[in-house]
This record gives sequence, C-alpha cells and structure tokens, in this order.
Amino acid sequence: MTAQQIRKGFLDHQRRHGHAVLDRAPLIPLDDPTTLFTGSGMQPLLPYLLGAEHPQGDRVADSQPCLRSQDIEEVGDNRHTTFFEMLGNWSLGAYFKEEQIPAMWDFLINVVGLEPERIFVSVFGGDAERGIPRDEESADIWERLFKEAGISHDRIDLGTEEHGNAVGNQGARIAFYGDKNWWSRGGSPDATPIGDPCGPDTEVFYFFPEVEHDVAFGEFSHQNSDGGQYLEIGNSVFMEYQRQEAGFVRLPRHQVDFGGGLERIAAAAAGSPDVFRISLLWPIVQALEELTGTAYEDNKTALRVITDHVRGAVFLALDGVRPGNKQQGYVMRRLLRRAMRFAHELGVEKNFLSSIVPVVVNIYAEDYPLLATKAPEIRAVLDKEERAFRRTLAKGLREMRHLSKEGDLNGAAFFALYDTFGFPTELSREEAQRQNFPVTDNWEQEFQSQMEEQRQRSQKAGTLGVS
Ligand code: ATP
Ligand code: MG
Ligand code: MG
Ligand code: MG
Repeated sequence: MTAQQIRKGFLDHQRRHGHAVLDRAPLIPLDDPTTLFTGSGMQPLLPYLLGAEHPQGDRVADSQPCLRSQDIEEVGDNRHTTFFEMLGNWSLGAYFKEEQIPAMWDFLINVVGLEPERIFVSVFGGDAERGIPRDEESADIWERLFKEAGISHDRIDLGTEEHGNAVGNQGARIAFYGDKNWWSRGGSPDATPIGDPCGPDTEVFYFFPEVEHDVAFGEFSHQNSDGGQYLEIGNSVFMEYQRQEAGFVRLPRHQVDFGGGLERIAAAAAGSPDVFRISLLWPIVQALEELTGTAYEDNKTALRVITDHVRGAVFLALDGVRPGNKQQGYVMRRLLRRAMRFAHELGVEKNFLSSIVPVVVNIYAEDYPLLATKAPEIRAVLDKEERAFRRTLAKGLREMRHLSKEGDLNGAAFFALYDTFGFPTELSREEAQRQNFPVTDNWEQEFQSQMEEQRQRSQKAGTLGVS
C-alpha cells in the first residue's frame, strides 16, 4: 500500500467504526499563542479532551499535518521528519481500551497488511508511589490479540529503561514501562496540571530484524532513543484519571487519543524502516538525486535533510507562513537555509528550491488540491528566500573559516554571520560542530547582547527619523 492508500484506508476504517472525519487544522494553531506549530493530532482536539462538546460528536478522526521544529536535528536518521502526518482518532467518552486497541490492530494487520509477529508493544507499568496501578487492562487486550494471531505474548517489566529497543530484545512482546508510558500535559505524573485528565499510554513498534544500527546519522544528529530495530509507529493514550490536589482519581468519563505516524506506517508496510523511501518522500529524493548528480545511498543525511526541509517549507507556505526573523517565519527560514547549505555541500550552486515545488505538489495533488492552486505563489516565496541567501552563503562560510582562524568563535562572530551573512545561529553552531571549529562558552549570551544593542540602535535611529 502507498502512503496515500494508507491514509484513505485509515479514514475509511474510522468511518466504518462510526467516526466523523474532521478537516485538518492548519499548521499554525488558530487560538493558541503558547505553541508555534500544530505538533500532533491531539493539539487541535485539546479543548474537547478537556471537556468542551465537539460539534461533530464523540467519535472523531483525521489525518493531521504536523510540524515539529524540535525534531529538526533528528532529521537525517531514517525515521524523523520535521513535517509529517499523524493519523488520529479520538473517543470523547464514547469507547475505551476494549474497542480502541482491537480496532487499531485490525487497521494495522487487516487494512495495512502488517505482519503480526513483527508488532511489539509497551504499556504503563504503574506508579506505586502515587497509587496509580499498572495498566493490566491494555496488556490483557494485547495478550488476547497476540494469542488469537498465534504469536508469543510474554510480558516483561522494564521500569524506567529508556530504549524502545529493549521491548523485544529481551524476548518479550509486551513491555511495562514507568513514566515513559504516562501521558499528561506536562509529561510526568508530577508535572500533570491539577484538574487535567491524564492516563496510561500504549505504544506500538514494528520490528526490523535486518537493521543493525541503520541510522546513517550525520555526526551532529542525536541518537534517537527509539532507534534501531524497533520503529515506533503509533501510540494510544487512555485518559482515565484526573489529577486532583490529593492525588490521582479515576474519571467517570474515559477518553482515547490515538496518534500514528503515516510516514512510518507506510514505511513498515513497505518493509523498510526508512521513511524517505515511501511514496510521499521518495519522488523528492529522486528529483534531488538528479539535480545533484549524487546517489541517495552515498549521501543519505544531506538528501534526507533537503527532502524534509523543502517539503516542510512548502506546507508552511501553503498555510501562509513567510520566511522571516521571528517565530514561525524564523523556523521556515531555518529550514530553507539549512536545505540550501546541505545542497551547497553537494555542489548545487544555482537556485533549485522552487524547482522541487512541482514534485511536492504532484505527490499531494489529490489529497491537498489547494497546493496546486497556490503553487506559483509558493514557488515565488521559496525563490525569493533562496535568492537572498544565495548571495551570502558561500561568503559566510568563507568568513566563518576566516574567523575561526582568529580564535574560538564568539558571540561577535555569530552576530556577524547572522547580521551580515544571514546565518541563523543554529546553522552557524551546527556548521562549527561539523568543521570542528571551537566556540566560546558564552557565545550565546554575547550574541544576545549584541542583538539587544542593535535593537536599541535602530530604535534610536527611529526616534531621530533616520531610516
Ligand atoms: P519518537 O519517539 O519516534 O520521536 P514520539 O513518541 O515523539 O516519536 P508521538 O508524539 O507519540 O511521537 O507521535 C505519534 C506518532 O507520530 C509516533 O508514534 C510516530 O509514528 C509519529 N512521529 C512522531 N514524530 C515523528 C517525526 N518527527 N517524523 C515522523 N513521524 C513521527
Ligand atoms: Mg519524538
Ligand atoms: Mg516515542
Ligand atoms: Mg510516542
């Protein structure tokens, strides 16, 4: 199945189970100044999970485009992209574990065609200190499904162990974890806001025995804690508790939030842990292979970064974001400039960003028809940003080498690269790391104070009427 077929298969499956399919929310949250981007399917649903009545009923589902700028430096591994789609379904008091887990299993096995024996799960192992019991209910449901499929169903207690890898390496199929499998706004049980719903979470992993350590990381990427042979394809949160002053009490109304990564499920369906090989990303990789005259196998990190960042920027442009120096615009600028920097490394010296837009439009033509309508505008936005940075990119890289010869890179150096050459500080920091240029301990503080001085200078200039 292609990713497009999986998206449609999921939404049809949800409709068959009585869910209303919602329109996607924009990448920029409408009334939420606390976060820059929609980073999960749950985010737009939060008011309803906190108690408001949903106009479309108590069973809803969607495929939600998400952007996680916090994952930007994970991009380069085989499973993280900044932009991705999350398949989601919610029970706003309509059903609970007994219905949700078997329905998800039915979707993964019978709709997508995943192999049962390659599925491994984690469940919440309880918190004795706070009087929250283990999630035996979820474990029992999983056990029943595994038994019916004729596969092993051993349990293991992994406590606070971090690695998704451990799920199956210890020979068990159902792993109990501590706080890692607890969901609340705020994260851990202690950080749960008073009055909020919260509860255990069960995660689903797909096993790739052939992978040893296929991560092909750039040297500056973080090791993904769920990396290696087990790919997290989705998780379900069961909101059955409320945190009160006195502790955690069970809620009368039980809710479910399921989030599954479309790209990762599609990768699992294709038998590869590499999301870049799926139908939503591979045509972009191919276009870039042709453009750069390089092979994916030889330049995985760079081609993954460029592929992801251009796709993400196209969707940001679709939702009205424009490259800039603040907030969402700054993230978009970082994506585009980072893509250009990686392309530069592969020898791309002429403008290319806008030539990738039609490839993205084509991939999403049926499911996001507005992309085609807005394609000329999107191309113009990317082109403008590229022209602005193209002029200074090579010069800035030269300047950086030059500055590094004069000593450790300090705040003034970062400021010059930012102000004169348009290098986002994150880009300079990453570049310094790649090139092994030492940086001073307090460069960030120094950079901030130079920024502040500049702000004051321009304010003064403003009051004097000088432009
Ligand atoms: P991971 O541990 O792999 O970073 P996560 O636990 O942070 O994933 P969730 O917040 O649980 O992710 O999001 C739900 C699902 O969305 C995940 O199970 C995964 O399939 C998918 N997903 C999350 N982050 C990404 C990403 N950066 N790129 C692609 N898919 C993702
Ligand atoms: Mg993550
Ligand atoms: Mg995870
Ligand atoms: Mg997760």
